[in-house]
Amino acid sequence: MPTIDVSRFTFHVSDIWRALDAVMDPEIPVVSMVEMGIVRDVKIENDVVIVTMTPTFAGCPALDVMRNAIVEKLRELGIENVAVKTVLSPPWTSDWISEPARAKLKAFGLAPPPLHGGNIALYFDALVACPYCNSTNTRVTNTFGPTLCRAIYFCRDCHQPFEQFKAL
Ligand SMILES: [Zn+2]
Repeated sequence: MPTIDVSRFTFHVSDIWRALDAVMDPEIPVVSMVEMGIVRDVKIENDVVIVTMTPTFAGCPALDVMRNAIVEKLRELGIENVAVKTVLSPPWTSDWISEPARAKLKAFGLAPPPLHGGNIALYFDALVACPYCNSTNTRVTNTFGPTLCRAIYFCRDCHQPFEQFKAL
């Protein structure tokens, strides 16, 4: 297993994953970029830490923010040689969001996207549960929420509007 030595510290790839798990998604600050499945890979090659990430959608305006957050976090550990690679293929899918992150999204009032296993059509038939009362008596009011990744729903039972992170 390759490691990187920084002053008197030795970091393993697993240490770097752990550090990156503290870097929050800039758009949803309750979940980390690792939990969202945005950080795809961490490698150490020739004393350089190479982090590969796939943004939630191409042309994501948060791309630079995310890249800088990764570099900053590793600098906190004393690691200066960091390369952040962006990979768009395969494209990010909401299926990569971890189970703990789905629970955090829900607690944040953002209905997590259903798992679709590559069959996006399933999503259109899926009932979206209200994150506040769990009722599935909901209707979509606007498929383009504040960002392209979100849809706005209305709960007919508790009369709360809420956002759903769209399946991608
Ligand atoms: Zn409700």
